[in-house]
Amino acid sequence: MGAVADNISVISKRILEAYNSAPLDQRAKTVPRLVAVSKTKPIDMILEAYRAGHRHFGENYVQELCEKSSSPIILKECPDIRWHFIGNCQSNKSKDLMRCPNLAMMETIVSQKLAKKLNSHAGSVEKLPVMIQVNTSGEANKNGLEPDESVECAQFIQKECPNLKFVGLMTIGDIGNSLAASDKGENPDFAKLRETRALVAKELNLAESDIELSMGMSSDFEEAVRMGSTSVRVGSSIFGERLYPTKPAAAATSGDTLTDTLRQVKI
Ligand SMILES: *Cc1c(COP(=O)(O)O)cnc(C)c1O
Repeated sequence: MGAVADNISVISKRILEAYNSAPLDQRAKTVPRLVAVSKTKPIDMILEAYRAGHRHFGENYVQELCEKSSSPIILKECPDIRWHFIGNCQSNKSKDLMRCPNLAMMETIVSQKLAKKLNSHAGSVEKLPVMIQVNTSGEANKNGLEPDESVECAQFIQKECPNLKFVGLMTIGDIGNSLAASDKGENPDFAKLRETRALVAKELNLAESDIELSMGMSSDFEEAVRMGSTSVRVGSSIFGERLYPTKPAAAATSGDTLTDTLRQVKI
């Protein structure tokens, strides 16, 4: 494991190689974006990556994103930082989320109710780009909408949420699928996200290539890129393994359920 800046350059190179070797009819229009997932990691590491030229960062706890994005040093030294929110956002946290400075994308809309809430707290004149999180593995304990619900939610965002802009679909997927795919080829979660995109494109009358796919993490981003990912979310391969604080009691008082906390810890 090298320094953060070196890791970013290694991962970026691997993204480019996977993109260049991908079937032309399957890959994204342009080289996928790398979102560096900095959750649980200190601000110093974010500064290091930013100084090396990196701009897109992902966080999956609302409170942590609020703290980092509004910290004086980040505001001063990282004026062009682009924050992606990639975690569970309970409706009662949507106001806090929408107030985070430099929030560039909310990737995890899991209900029309959440979309409506986020829309109602939008402050800026620009629409916030949003993605819908799709449950591609069918696991009951995974967050995300079923493919047909995703179509309805995208329509809802287009019609009823003038402060949001629907830009794509996101999946976390099942780690088992991801490991099996490294032997067998196609990852079924990524295939399912592509299918969902086809459905959404048809119903919303959009070109498939205009709908982003956020898929691929440290263990499977190259496969995701070959299957058409437009945005990969890589954490531990850039910042090192995460050490999670084990404090379910604190999480419970802040409104998260214990199950949520455990689910997040598994990710
Ligand atoms: C933590 C996280 C990632 C990054 O995972 P790594 O395996 O560390 O690359 C990606 N996406 C989401 C939604 C996450 O919560």
